[in-house]
Amino acid sequence: MTRAAIYVRVSTTNQEEEGTSLSTQEERCRAFAAARDYGVIEVFSDVHTGAQYRDRPGLSALRDLVRARGADVVICYAIDRLSRNQAHLYIIAEDVEEHGGRIEFVTENFEDSAIGRFLRSASAFAGEVEREKMIERTMRGKHARAKSGKLIPAVKALYGYRWRDASKAALDVDPDTAPIVQRIYREALAGSPLRVIAKGLSKDGIATPSGRSTSWSHTAIRDILKHPNYTGNAVAWAWRRDPKRKTRIVFSLDDAVTLPAGTVPALVDLESWQSVQETLTVNKAQASRNNRAPRMTLLRGGYATCGYCGRNMHVTRQRNSMLNGREPKSIYMCSGGGSHANPCGSHAILAATLDAAVWERVAQVLMEPGFIGREVERLKATDPTSGQLEKLDRQVADVQRRQSNLMRELSMFDDPALGADIRKQINDLSQRRRELEDERSAIQSERALWEQAQANLDNLTLWRDTVATNLDDLSYEERRLALDALGIEVKVYRKDHDPRYEITATIPVIGPIVFDTCCSIYRSVM
Ligand SMILES: [Zn+2]
Repeated sequence: MTRAAIYVRVSTTNQEEEGTSLSTQEERCRAFAAARDYGVIEVFSDVHTGAQYRDRPGLSALRDLVRARGADVVICYAIDRLSRNQAHLYIIAEDVEEHGGRIEFVTENFEDSAIGRFLRSASAFAGEVEREKMIERTMRGKHARAKSGKLIPAVKALYGYRWRDASKAALDVDPDTAPIVQRIYREALAGSPLRVIAKGLSKDGIATPSGRSTSWSHTAIRDILKHPNYTGNAVAWAWRRDPKRKTRIVFSLDDAVTLPAGTVPALVDLESWQSVQETLTVNKAQASRNNRAPRMTLLRGGYATCGYCGRNMHVTRQRNSMLNGREPKSIYMCSGGGSHANPCGSHAILAATLDAAVWERVAQVLMEPGFIGREVERLKATDPTSGQLEKLDRQVADVQRRQSNLMRELSMFDDPALGADIRKQINDLSQRRRELEDERSAIQSERALWEQAQANLDNLTLWRDTVATNLDDLSYEERRLALDALGIEVKVYRKDHDPRYEITATIPVIGPIVFDTCCSIYRSVM
């Protein structure tokens, strides 16, 4: 049977005005309970003028009973009998609900009343505030940790390194991946475009930093080339949640915390790193200048490779046309340079010819309705953090349970020696819990990125629908973004080869490029 507790109240000063004496209220409440087959177990009453809900002995006793789970439902004649103050009502209602009970009013339907609606939204608001505070605490904790000279722990160490020990405060060189980082810097210093470096690594079957594929994106290469910690002058707190868009991680050296020497061993000397930064800046400046040149070669920067040696087909000008008094045309030429060591020779193709063919293929892919849909379905099927959060939640719950068991034990023993031992176990568990929570927030960030990528996949579909109808009006930049979004690659052969070129389109599987390009495409289109 449902156990009901009745609460009645009168204010001595205006009892007449209210017109409901304690006994009338109780009578109505009892009838209400009887009609619902509730068993009334106790009646609590207050005769009170003050507004403070804490000062009412009847209400306090009722709340004690509810907290001890001694009642399933609290019956009150009217909402204002419980309290006239919304904040008090909120606290009381929360308390009752938290202990498995509910409040019912004889004269009003609580759920449908204005105050009921307010309480529901207040409770949602309070949950929101609680989450915000949790994020705040995590952020503060991370900042404090960086200031104490320690790296902020993540599931994976920075590519090229591994964690020095379980505290994840410092890094050691990883003999497997460090040479890859150095290779990337070496190639960048030699002037290779990001896409060419990425292709080389993919071709050699080297696993990406996420470890989930061997398909490198140029954004992954750029991230590695821009990371200041590879010089050994390590910083923390440079990546943090965007205060405006909470799911977004932003990078800024402005408030970054410099970590002590030796926290991260150098893989690249400072001079090389700086030189790479200059190249990246120059390339970026050039790219934006080139955007204004309407006929800039579409495949500049690593989309086209030599079908024989795999080198980049770089942009250059026809050599002999000046002799004929004609304007030299742009061509794509194998970077091998036709030396004896290079069997494929310095073969080339007219940029205008290849660009037109590639754009025709892009148009074809975009107009074929099934392609993007199929690719999006494929990309949606892979959640990198699947199961990990649930597992961590279980572990945290387990630690919490063990802690509260220990607390209970602690309260049962008087022996100080035994007490000290239990307290130590509780502290150890707290430490473990902090670690688990750190790990959890790292996975959450990763998952947030993945979710953002998922949202961007829908943007990709939207983008297709928009772009497919305006194919001829796209700017140079938008065309290049289309090449990235569709993962266009071109292999070029000599004139006597059939076919002369092969064009493939594969939407990149890995996060950054999907995330990066689709975002910017969406922005550039809208
Ligand atoms: Zn070649």
